[in-house]
Amino acid sequence: MCGAEYPAGPRAPMTCPRCGITGILDVQYDYRAVARRLTRRALARRTDFSEWRYRELLPLGARAHLPALAVGWSPLEPAPALARHLGLGSLLLKDDGRNPSASLKDRASAVGAVKALEARKHTIACASTGNAASSLACMAASLGLQAIIFVPERAPEPKLAQLLTFGATVLRVRGSYDQTWDICQRSCERWGWYNRNAAVNPFLVEGKKTVSLEICEQAEWRLPEWVAVSVGDGCTIAGTWKGFREMRTLGLIRRAPKLLGVQAAGAAPVTEAFRSGAALRPVEPHTMADSIAVGVPRNWKKAVDAVRESGGTMLNVGDDEIQEAMRVTGRLAGVFAEPAAAAAVAGLARAAREGVIPRRAATLAVITGNGLKDTRAALDAAPKPMDIPPDLAAVEAALAP
Ligand SMILES: *Cc1c(COP(=O)(O)O)cnc(C)c1O
Repeated sequence: MCGAEYPAGPRAPMTCPRCGITGILDVQYDYRAVARRLTRRALARRTDFSEWRYRELLPLGARAHLPALAVGWSPLEPAPALARHLGLGSLLLKDDGRNPSASLKDRASAVGAVKALEARKHTIACASTGNAASSLACMAASLGLQAIIFVPERAPEPKLAQLLTFGATVLRVRGSYDQTWDICQRSCERWGWYNRNAAVNPFLVEGKKTVSLEICEQAEWRLPEWVAVSVGDGCTIAGTWKGFREMRTLGLIRRAPKLLGVQAAGAAPVTEAFRSGAALRPVEPHTMADSIAVGVPRNWKKAVDAVRESGGTMLNVGDDEIQEAMRVTGRLAGVFAEPAAAAAVAGLARAAREGVIPRRAATLAVITGNGLKDTRAALDAAPKPMDIPPDLAAVEAALAP
C-alpha cells in the first residue's frame, strides 16, 4: 500500500494507478461529519430496513438510483440449543441467506450495480463460482442493467439456475476459476463494462460491511466477543471488520468483537499467510464448500490485517466438520446453511473444542448463504430418508428405537 489518496466521484479510479491491478483502494468518509448524523437515537428512528439505512457510510451520490429489492437487514437470531451443543455460552446467527438472491453477496452486488449506473454503464460483469454471480444477476435485473457472467464449469446447479432465471448472459468457461477471473478482467478492459470483481472494485466491501452495522444495532449495541466469518477471497471478512471499525470510530460501540476467520482445510492459503506472516502462496483448492474454494485470493492481505487488528484468529475446518455443522445448524436452529456458510459454525465448534475461544464465550456466526444454493451438498450431508411400503407395521418398525 502506497498511501496515495484519490477524490471520490464518477471519475475515481478503481485500483490505485501507482500500485496497478493489485492496489485495491479503500473508501474513506468524513467520520466527524457522519458521527453528527449517525447517532443511536437517529438510527432508532429510521424506517428503512435495508442496507441503505446506513447511507452516510455508503459511497453513493445523493441521486443514486437504488434497486427496489430489499437488500440486507437480515434477521439476527439466537440459537441457544446449538450454542449448548457446541459448548458456547451463546450463539447468534446472522442469517444472510435471507437476502434477495439468498447470500450475503447481495449487499455488495447492490452497491456495485448502483455504482455502475452512476458511471453510466449499462453492462456489468463478474467472474464467480456462484453467489457473486447470482446476486449480480439479481441486482442487475432489478435495476435494468445487462449482466454478463463468467462461470467456471464446476458451479453448483442451483446457482446457475438463478443466473439464467435472472436473465444474465452466462459464459461458462472451460478452465479453472482463476482463468475465468482473468478472462472477465480482460473483457471488462476491452469492452468497457463495469467490473463487479471484489479484487479490483473498492465499493463492494462497502456493501459487505453493512452486515456489521446491522449486527451492532440488532444486538442493541451489546456485541458478542467473537464473530465467525468464513473466508474465501477475503473480502467478506475485511468488510465485516470495516463495519465494526467504523462503528467504533463513530463512537457508537466501545469495543469491536474479535474475528474468527474460517477456511476450508482444502483451500486455506489465507490462514497459512495469517500464521506465517509471509506473503500468500496460492493453492489448488479442494473442498465441497464451493463459495470459499479460492486458490488465489485477491483480498487476502485485507483479510489477514482485519483479523489481526480485531485481536482474533484464523483456523481451518475439514469438509466432514462442515457437513456436521450443516446438520446441527439445521436440526438445532432451523437454519439451512450452504457449506461455506456452515463453515463459520464449524469454526466456532472447533475453536470451542480446542480452547481457542473461552468456553461459554458469547459468539455470532454469519450465515453467508442459504442451503438451497447447493442441494447436492446438502443431500450428501443430511441423513437419508427411510424407504417403507405403505403399511403401519412398516412405519412402526421404521420408528422403533
Ligand atoms: C463469497 C462467500 C464467502 C466468502 O467471502 P469472500 O469474500 O470470498 O471471503 C463465504 N460464504 C459464502 C456463502 C459466499 O458466497
